[in-house]
Amino acid sequence: MPKPILELKDVNTYYGMIHAVKGINMEIGKGEIVALIGSNGAGKSTTLNTIVGLLKPKKGQIIYDGNDLAHCSAAEIVKMGICLSPEGREVFPDLSVQDNLKLGAFTRKDKVKIAQDYEKVYSLFPRLFERKTQVAKTLSGGEQQMLAIGRALMSDPKVLLLDEPSLGLSPNLVMLIFDLIKDIKKLGVTILLVEQNAKMALKTADRAYVLETGRITLEGTGKQLLTDDNVRKAYLGNI
Ligand code: ATP
Repeated sequence: MPKPILELKDVNTYYGMIHAVKGINMEIGKGEIVALIGSNGAGKSTTLNTIVGLLKPKKGQIIYDGNDLAHCSAAEIVKMGICLSPEGREVFPDLSVQDNLKLGAFTRKDKVKIAQDYEKVYSLFPRLFERKTQVAKTLSGGEQQMLAIGRALMSDPKVLLLDEPSLGLSPNLVMLIFDLIKDIKKLGVTILLVEQNAKMALKTADRAYVLETGRITLEGTGKQLLTDDNVRKAYLGNI
């Protein structure tokens, strides 16, 4: 495994009395794609939201670049280079594609590099370029998902967190999104991927963790988990 860029140490997150994430430990190596798989309600989104500071852990550390993110605000965390592309394609529905992307760069001041990053996003997602002026709510589900990922890329992240990027997409688009995730890795971005589609996630990931009711129960390379009997039974439909 490459040197970790992000480490979760004994992270615990609550919603009031509900203990959603129960002391998890994870390491995400620089340049890796790491998948986090698990059933509905296992705590996957809670883990991502805790990393980006939308939720605060009650206990534990999230070490990134020598800092403990548990003490940083969400805006500081984006500036430091970690960005979440949220579940449910939370794009701004009434804004154009271009304006949605522009908002992704809101913490940045480096105009020249921002202009280059528009080019980068549009070359990854030519469909977004064709629909530059279209308002986001009129995009198809797959296009909105691309826009959510593109917007996250406009923050120039070192670590990109993807929450269910393939949710609700047709099989062809699922393939396309996973290919794009590999392309984003090639740009040097480290990726933490949360997915219900365990098969595609494990095929794509260098390493993966299984989360069950708030606890990590298994970890290994994507390949190891694809052939693990328990994973096959629980998440791959026993195939
Ligand atoms: P899914 O794939 O269904 O989104 P998940 O693995 O991402 O599932 P989380 O959304 O992180 O799971 O939820 C973990 C637990 O925390 C669940 O028991 C859920 O009911 C609870 N939970 C999530 N959000 C809240 C909230 N805002 N208030 C109270 N409980 C919550």
